Amino acid sequence: MIENERPALADSLWTATANSAPDCPPLVGEAEADVVIVGGGFTGLSAALHLAEAGQSVVLLEAETPGWGASGRNGGQVNPALKPDPDDIVARFGDDLGRRMVARWGDGGRLVFDLIARHGIDCDARPVGFLRTATNTRGLAMLSEIARQWRAHGAEYDDLDAAETARLVGAEAYLGAVIDRRGGNIHPLNYALGLAQAAIRAGAVLHGQSRAIGFEDAGTGVSVRTELGQVKARRALVCTNAYTGPFGGALGRSVVPVTSVQVATAPLSDNVIRAILPEDHAPTDTRRLIQYYRKTADGRFVMGGRGARGEAGTRRRQQELRQAAETLFPQLGAADWVHAWGGDVAMTVDSLPGLHRLGPNVMAGLGFNGRGVANATVMGTILADWVLGVPERALDFPVTPVRPIPFHFLKSAGVALTIGAYRLLDRVNR
Ligand SMILES: Cc1cc2nc3c(=O)[nH]c(=O)nc-3n(C[C@H](O)[C@H](O)[C@H](O)COP(=O)(O)OP(=O)(O)OC[C@H]3O[C@@H](n4cnc5c(N)ncnc54)[C@H](O)[C@@H]3O)c2cc1C
Repeated sequence: MIENERPALADSLWTATANSAPDCPPLVGEAEADVVIVGGGFTGLSAALHLAEAGQSVVLLEAETPGWGASGRNGGQVNPALKPDPDDIVARFGDDLGRRMVARWGDGGRLVFDLIARHGIDCDARPVGFLRTATNTRGLAMLSEIARQWRAHGAEYDDLDAAETARLVGAEAYLGAVIDRRGGNIHPLNYALGLAQAAIRAGAVLHGQSRAIGFEDAGTGVSVRTELGQVKARRALVCTNAYTGPFGGALGRSVVPVTSVQVATAPLSDNVIRAILPEDHAPTDTRRLIQYYRKTADGRFVMGGRGARGEAGTRRRQQELRQAAETLFPQLGAADWVHAWGGDVAMTVDSLPGLHRLGPNVMAGLGFNGRGVANATVMGTILADWVLGVPERALDFPVTPVRPIPFHFLKSAGVALTIGAYRLLDRVNR
């Protein structure tokens, strides 16, 4: 069970099958470091690891335990690249920055699998490519265009016809698919715990149960406070994503937290599981409210999709996912569904993450729009570049002011209404 989480989101398969977690005692008293990092998900852990490897002294503060947030709960799909298409990024940011962004973030899958290999992270890594399936002709045309653009940018990205898609999925539900060969899938919590172990081995100090409650940026340095202590550092990084809350002033209002949920079966018998996803892909489809699914190393089936804010709504969505899984794979009809959980993704207005300067010595990176396994890992390296002295204009992502979303308090209601409309459109498959 995920501690300190509401019941409908707490019963995570990844927590139940996690490797042992590193010892991360709370911060008590005063500490000093070159850099203090707030938040122990992929973003903060990647930054901690890369900075410690570069010789910086690092203290990381995590309110719960490393991997507690979205990083320890997600679908484990390694989906390289930012959400907007590469040509859009070049058109928007120009030939220099745009092309650097496409290259750096498009390399996110390789970064994840290289880190796993280099640090011996035991997280069921499957670098089998990232599969996106089309449920209608509009979706298929969109996917083909994305694949065409990526090929032009040098990526290994292929179109698959309906027959090959059916073979890789184990169901004849799609008109076709594309596969981004740079991606794959992992056990997300074990990847987070492995990053934490690697950061500690490289010299970083990680504190759990240490919620940062405020910071002062004096220009010459920064100090970050918790209930029981304080860290003084040259620079601070804020990596709190959908769980930012009031920390960092308006930062939390620059993203909309949206709940995503998953359900998982008990290990299935060989004859049931063999025909499903025979090459271990973890597909996502082109519905507006995407469904994503996968198998696990111990032979379970996992299905995920958009959640809801309240307990009853969340449980209803989880039940809908079980039914959707059984429609796609009728052989799951007799399965025991033993885990149901979820967490919050951080959506942004322009579908891009935000890299924001909160003060002379404080930078935040957040807003991965449900694609953070590769992207948050990349963001950690860009935050590390900034701490190591790379000038803002030379970073492979633009630094922008925090832009709180107007009427943010209404945004969750707006998201709920949009989800209702999308659900209808998906039902009629338009
Ligand atoms: C159910 C679900 C499925 C998803 N599926 C996928 C997928 O298949 N593929 C993919 O690419 N992405 C997926 N995502 C998105 C992905 O998980 C996230 O984008 C990514 O994990 C974000 O990492 P992060 O480190 O920025 O944030 P998080 O992992 O959320 O970490 C933020 C951390 O900050 C801590 N924190 C907050 N405030 C404070 C404070 N004041 N002091 C100290 N600590 C604090 C929190 O406790 C938390 O641990 C999914 C997300 C969810 C929820």
